[in-house]
Amino acid sequence: MRKGLLIVISGASGTGKGTVCKKLLAELPEVVYSISATTRKPRPGEVNGKEYYFLSVDEFKTWIAEEKFLEYAEVYGNFYGTPLNKIEERLNRGDDMLLEIDVQGALKVKKKCPDGIYIFLLPPSLEELKNRIEGRGTENPESLSRRLKNAVAEIKIGLEYDYVVVNDTIDNAAAQIKAILTAERLKVARNADKFDFKGGF
Ligand code: ADP
Ligand code: 5GP
Repeated sequence: MRKGLLIVISGASGTGKGTVCKKLLAELPEVVYSISATTRKPRPGEVNGKEYYFLSVDEFKTWIAEEKFLEYAEVYGNFYGTPLNKIEERLNRGDDMLLEIDVQGALKVKKKCPDGIYIFLLPPSLEELKNRIEGRGTENPESLSRRLKNAVAEIKIGLEYDYVVVNDTIDNAAAQIKAILTAERLKVARNADKFDFKGGF
């Protein structure tokens, strides 16, 4: 059976990662979203166990001590982490796993899982990034300015990824990511079994 793809998507806050991932998940039933844990407070409409597992700092530290994370990082003053549970099992079952995580976490995963697919999402411009994050209306002034200040440094780390996609329109970005996944699924290294014609004529 084909092993699932480990797909990692990062990009500066407000680029549109969540929006583009939602579209991909709606269109690609074989892709499973990895629900992260965080100590950040839920935004209006966010549901525990859907967008994130919302934990207290103490609970998060217990998960760290119990080695429940594939990776975790402090991002904009809160902890975020990828729960290890079932990722390997699901990949072996053939599910593709989609991790939407920050650059620090992604680089840690890249070391552990070099056959993952590392995609960096860029905004069309910094001005548009600012418009999007302001337009989302979820950040207080302090969090907004922290996210914008970090954006340029985060974007530079994108040079260490495998693929870059500009989120100009949601449709274009999703189509380009689908093209990446199609090409990755066709790699010889992922299809060695297809070359075995059981002894030939
Ligand atoms: P992120 O998950 O990267 O922080 P979001 O998915 O929350 O970003 O998107 C930030 C804001 O930008 C949201 O209000 C979203 O509706 C909007 N947005 C996302 N992608 C686009 C796009 N291609 N064009 C215009 N607005 C977008
Ligand atoms: P937000 O607070 O906007 O939901 O997310 C803030 C940042 O944390 C984003 O860059 C997002 O990709 C990142 N993030 C979300 N989940 C994880 C995770 O499990 N691990 C790491 N390292 N970063 C995460």
